[in-house]
Amino acid sequence: MVTTSRHVKRSAIESTAVELNPVFVRPGEATELPKFRIPSAESLPETAYQIVHDEAMLDGNARQNLATFVGTWMDDQAQHLYLDAADKNMIDKDEYPQTAAIENRCWTMLAHLWHAPDPDHTIGTSTIGSSEACMLGGLALKRRWQHARTAAGKPTDRPNLVMSSAVQVCWEKFCNYWDVEPRFVPISEDHKVLDGHDLESYVDENTIGVVAIMGVTYTGMYEPVEQIAAALDRIQAATGLDIKIHVDGASGAMVAPFLQPQLRWDFAVDRVVSINTSGHKYGLVYPGVGWVVWRDLESLPEDLIFHVSYLGGDMPTFALNFSRPGAQVLLQYYLFLRLGREGYRRVQGAARDVATYLSAEIGKMPAFELWNDGSDIPVFAWRLRPGYTKNWTLYDLSDRLRMTGWLVPAYPMPDGLSDLTVQRIVVRAGFSHDLADAFLADLRAAVGYLDALDAPMPTAHQRSGFHH
Ligand SMILES: *Cc1c(COP(=O)(O)O)cnc(C)c1O
Repeated sequence: MVTTSRHVKRSAIESTAVELNPVFVRPGEATELPKFRIPSAESLPETAYQIVHDEAMLDGNARQNLATFVGTWMDDQAQHLYLDAADKNMIDKDEYPQTAAIENRCWTMLAHLWHAPDPDHTIGTSTIGSSEACMLGGLALKRRWQHARTAAGKPTDRPNLVMSSAVQVCWEKFCNYWDVEPRFVPISEDHKVLDGHDLESYVDENTIGVVAIMGVTYTGMYEPVEQIAAALDRIQAATGLDIKIHVDGASGAMVAPFLQPQLRWDFAVDRVVSINTSGHKYGLVYPGVGWVVWRDLESLPEDLIFHVSYLGGDMPTFALNFSRPGAQVLLQYYLFLRLGREGYRRVQGAARDVATYLSAEIGKMPAFELWNDGSDIPVFAWRLRPGYTKNWTLYDLSDRLRMTGWLVPAYPMPDGLSDLTVQRIVVRAGFSHDLADAFLADLRAAVGYLDALDAPMPTAHQRSGFHH
């Protein structure tokens, strides 16, 4: 009997030993799990959680990430909704007809917001982000052009797309992946954005469309869609070419309707056939949702659409992905209901106030010259004032700011101005005046530190000893 009770006692201790261990002295935490091969055995969920959590902790702090356009703050109700809907697959339209209906409502709301001539006869879809949305917009342009050329008995083997050299990389991908020749109009000090100047030397009968960007990624500036359309009107009058515009409104299509309601950039401009936006940028949702809407049913060639039946009806779909999270679509709908147009106006307005305040303060510093002031979308860029210093660069400043947690990228401008380095801040919901002041104090301290150096900073390459 004694032996048995001892035995029971010992095995009880053994079976609870691991759970009793403080978490960081358990196997897995006190030892190392393999990083590039799936471990052979299980770990306790707490241990696996702690390891992943701790590694993610080493990332930058999302709220201090002034580099990204993508949402880093949502309220508690949104967080609940996210958890509630984490299991929803957007493609399961038969199984989740309500989520599918909500998706339709969201892009129809956008069609209204963007002045579609007849919002009940538009078509649109959610996507995983603007990149996918731009691919779909570009594919529709290409297919329309192909149909028109084929009908006219002309060749379709050399399509081209005209856009600024400052386009987001997704357009370069589009051209590369779908065999379209990219024609970049370089930006310059005189033409800081694509503005229609000299457009006639870029477009021809093989041009599938022109991309206009509302909120250029590099600087946050709007391209003047109406002016680009006017240039295309003149080209049509002179040559007969009828070239349409896709507006890449990844950020600006959710800012301009609220902050610049008088600006004509959307379907109010006849030549605009499609518009995309990132729900996860100024749509204010966490990463994972974009939108694209076409002006009317004719703008999206029928042969690109696949038909899925649900609720006894007929559900047209056009997407690159199949499975994709549905939660973000519900979060977008939540925000449309929660904020309404007035709420969006107030949230974007607050971001713009912070952006213009920050740009004014930074513009006053002798080290810097503003490129723009953040009054289009709440994004602005600056350069080092020519002749200010030979001892440090904006890359050094970017490094220095990291010491206080601020992530503010420095990068070269695109072709046309690639000798110019700028630094950019994206102000998003959640970047309060208080945080802006904290940032300015850290920025001034960093500049003071760099100014006090009496020799050039070693280059980042020399400092980190990186070997490639
Ligand atoms: C961010 C951005 C994109 C890409 O959008 P994702 O939602 O990140 O895929 C495309 N175009 C512009 C102008 C952008 O700013």
